[in-house]
Parts: sequence; structure tokens; C-alpha cells
Amino acid sequence: MGELYDVAVIGAGPGGYVAAIRAAQLGLRTVCIDDWEKPDGRPSLGGTCLNVGCIPSKALLESSENVYRAQHSFADHGITVSGLSIDVPAMIARKDRIVDRFTGGISLLFKKNKVDSLHGRGRFLSAGPPYVLEVQGGERTRQIEATHVIIATGSSARQLPGAPVDGRRIFDNVGALSFTEVPKRLGVIGAGVIGLEMGSVWRRLGAQVTILEAMSGFLQAADEQVSREAFRVFTRVVGLDIRVGVKVEAVVPGADEVTVTYEEAGERKHVAFDRLIVAVGRAPNTGGLGVEAVGLKLDPRGHVEVDSHCRSNLPNVYAVGDVVRGPMLAHKSSEEGVAVAETIAGQASHVNLDTIPWVIYTWPEIAWVGKTEQQLKAEGVAYAVGQFPFVVNGRAQALGETAGFVKMLADARTDRVLGVHALGAYASELIAEAVLAIEFGASSEDIARVVHAHPTLSEAMHEAALAIHKRTLSL
Ligand code: FAD
Ligand code: NAD
Repeated sequence: MGELYDVAVIGAGPGGYVAAIRAAQLGLRTVCIDDWEKPDGRPSLGGTCLNVGCIPSKALLESSENVYRAQHSFADHGITVSGLSIDVPAMIARKDRIVDRFTGGISLLFKKNKVDSLHGRGRFLSAGPPYVLEVQGGERTRQIEATHVIIATGSSARQLPGAPVDGRRIFDNVGALSFTEVPKRLGVIGAGVIGLEMGSVWRRLGAQVTILEAMSGFLQAADEQVSREAFRVFTRVVGLDIRVGVKVEAVVPGADEVTVTYEEAGERKHVAFDRLIVAVGRAPNTGGLGVEAVGLKLDPRGHVEVDSHCRSNLPNVYAVGDVVRGPMLAHKSSEEGVAVAETIAGQASHVNLDTIPWVIYTWPEIAWVGKTEQQLKAEGVAYAVGQFPFVVNGRAQALGETAGFVKMLADARTDRVLGVHALGAYASELIAEAVLAIEFGASSEDIARVVHAHPTLSEAMHEAALAIHKRTLSL
């Protein structure tokens, strides 16, 4: 039999590596098994988030935003730029260096925290506890035993039937992060988070971007007012051609282009692109995990079925992150990882899925936490709205970033903050205050009474809280 661990974590994405570190910090003998490899075959920890997700996409978003600013905003500051050129391979190389720094950093964190790291594919061989796991990596196959198992195997891009990723004309998030030149005509199927972020990157670098979305509404998870205004800015200012309510019927790659046939308002249309990104959601990774060998229960959508404490149907087997229900977000995965490690160590810990912040790193950014106005209406909750536009915020004016607003929703009776929605510059940073407020059960009056530094974008949050009681000071 193999070595016996207190905890074996399968997957070293933000769910798995954080769970492993926390478990080891709590004195549990921990191993983390991960099979991710860079294109050259080197193991690379950090999962989707670090390798082909959050970090590389944000690196490219920043590079492309700089191009956009140089082309469109500098003149307003009295700065003239001539001879501007874009070196896409240099941008990709910068992105890759950032990824390397972070993925390498996890190996160091594992060493520092005494987490054993095994490279290879893990699967259940027999039921437990202790569970016997097989780890197959390269030529070597080994077995280990573990009293507790945390499944953190993440998710992969969902494929569109009839449009397989070929790495030549059709790409998923992996390929979309590594184009070495700007496609002239870029098609994107799916106006979700990846479609909008990757579409923004390549649009700012000069591509003509068309996004085809099946749903008749745009960004339906966001507050309707935010999605309406975001749609207006993305289509009219950023220049994304977003077509909603379309039915993609065929995708035909050719030697020089890929043709998409779709139906829009009862009319059949054909459009040719140089490259096509398919971003129609992600599916949980449970294949090859030996689910059947141990009788691990999956839900109808293929996620590992878990309760509110991430416990599966098997004793001592937990699952966290993208492989279970809930939003597919890195911070949600990590918080579940921490909570499970602490639960295994005998502590009381849980994650409140109602206060997970969402951020879409377009420009302007979109961020929210808690309920949307349409959710409150559907639930019959009486609420008050406070809203404040960035155009009258001093810092936004100084930055030249005046698009958008902060919108706060509070219970009409108790004044408790129920949701906060922001569209604007650095909305990703502003939302942290709202998460804290909702987690602490704050009222809008609490936020209104907190001192916010001047001049900062956070004053828009303060004013939105004041607006709930119709007492804004700058509008
Ligand atoms: P993953 O990160 O998917 O990690 C799972 C790991 O397990 C992988 O390394 C995988 O290879 C490994 N694995 C799977 N099966 C096995 C096995 N049997 N044996 C061994 N190893 C296995 N989220 C945000 O919060 N913010 C963002 O800005 C953001 N941007 C994103 C941008 C893109 C383009 C994409 C694709 C995603 C983005 N996400 C973002 C989502 C985020 O990446 C995921 O929510 C997060 O990575 C999920 O973490 P995880 O640990 O559950 O799984
Ligand atoms: P998504 O669920 O955000 O969006 C997919 C979109 O594709 C939806 O709008 C859906 O209606 C549409 N769609 C589905 N099938 C279609 C079809 N046949 N034709 C046209 N449109 C179709 O998924 P995603 O953009 O692939 O991203 C996956 C997940 O990764 C996200 O849900 C998110 O959790 C995570 N992510 C997060 C961030 C972030 O936090 N900033 C960034 C990128 C990805």
C-alpha cells in the first residue's frame, strides 16, 4: 500500500492549492495531486485560474487597455502619441512571464507549508476511509492512501457541438489568450464573461469583433440597469458588435476563414471570421476520476453533489470550486477550500454563497454582490434604491473615467443592504466594501456614516448610500 495522508487534494487550482495549504497549516499531513502541464510538458500548478484564466486574461486586458488609452484618452490629457505600434508577441510573452511567476510561486508555497506535491492524474481506486488513490504521471504510476479526500478538479471549456476547437480557426479560452497576431475579423460565440473579456482584449487591439449570443437578454445575471448601460457602452463606445437572441446553426472552418451560419429574428445569416472563440460556459471535470469505483454521486449537471459544507455522499470526501454547484469563480473555490480544510481539522467553517462578489473585467468594469433589483421584485421584497453616477465624482473626472454608476439596494423596512451593483472604473476594487457591508449585515445608513477619503471613487459608494435616504451631497 502507498503512503498514508490525512488529506489528499485532487487538483491544484485556486480551490485545491488553497485547501492543501490550509490543511497543512492546521497540522494535517497533506498531498496535492495535479496534472496540469504547460504546452512544453512542464508541470504547472494553479489550475485554470493561473494558467489560462483569471491571471493571463487580466494581464492581456491591462495591455490592451493601455493601447486603448494611448489611442483614445491621452489626447485629452494633452499628450500626443505618434508612431504607436503594437507588439502582440511581446504582450503574450509578458502575460506568460506573469503566469510563470505565479505558478512557480505555488510550488514554493507548497514547500514552505510542507504540502507534498504529486504531478499526475489522480483517481479513486477503492472506497474508504482510508481511500486508495492512483496517481498516473508520465511513465510512473503510484498509489497513496488518504483518510480525507478533497476533489478540486475544476472545469473545462464546454464544447459547442459541430464547432470543435481546432487551434487553427476555432479556439476556446486557452487559444484566445495566445493569438500571436490581431485577427482582422474575430467572431465570439457566447456573450458571457469570457466572451466579453476576450472580445474586449482583441477589439482594443484593433480586431473587428462580433459576439453571437443565444439568449435574448444581455448579461442576465447582472442587475438589469447595469446590463442595459453596459450593453450601450460596449456596443456604442467600445465597438463590440453584440447580437443577442441568435441561434448558431453551423460553423464551417475553411483554409483562410471560418463561416458561421446563424438565425437572427427569423432570418438566416452567414458571417465569415478569421478566428472564432467559443465561450459558451464550462463543464465540471469528473471524467477519469474513478467516480464509479467508489459510488461518488454527481448531480444532473455533472457536478459532484455536495451539501452546504461541501460534503459529498461519501464519508470524508469533499468537493470544492468549479466542480461543484455555485458560481465558477476563483475566490469562491478558494474560500470553499479553506472551509473544508478547517472542517476536516475539526473547526466550524462555511462559505456564504450569497455574498460572493462577481466582477467582469471589461472597461468599464462590472461588479456586484447580493441581490439584483429584478430578483428583489420577483421575491416581493420592498426595497429602496440609491444611485450615484461617476460623472459627478471628482476622482473619476481626474481619471477621465466617468462612465457608469454605483447602485445600492436596501430593505425598505430595515434599511439592511441587500445588493450593490457598480459599473465603472475599478468597480472590481470598490465592491469589496459592499461585500463587507452585506456580510456584516450593515444598513445603508451605516455606509453613509462611514468616512470615505476624498477624492476617491469610493465616494460614489458613500453617495449611493446617502441617495437611499434622498440626501446626496454632490448631486
Ligand atoms: P481549476 O482552476 O480548474 O483547477 C483544477 C485543477 O485540477 C487543474 O489543474 C486540472 O488540471 C486539475 N485536475 C483535474 N482533474 C484532475 C485529476 N483527475 N487528477 C489531477 N489533477 C486534475 N474567476 C475569477 O474569480 N476571476 C476571474 O477574473 C476569472 N477569469 C477567468 C478567465 C478565464 C479565461 C477563465 C477560463 C476562467 C476565469 N475565472 C475567473 C474562473 C476561474 O478560473 C475558476 O473559477 C477557477 O479556476 C476554479 O478553480 P478550481 O480550483 O475549482 O479549478
Ligand atoms: P458564461 O456562462 O459566462 O457565458 C456563456 C454564454 O454563452 C452565455 O451568455 C450563454 O447564454 C451563451 N451561450 C451558450 N450556448 C450558446 C450557443 N450555442 N450560442 C450562443 N451563445 C451561447 O460562460 P463563459 O463566458 O464561457 O465563462 C465560464 C465561466 O468562467 C463563467 O461563468 C465564470 O464563472 C468564469 N469566468 C469568470 C470571469 C471573471 O470572474 N471575471 C472571467 C472569465 C470566466
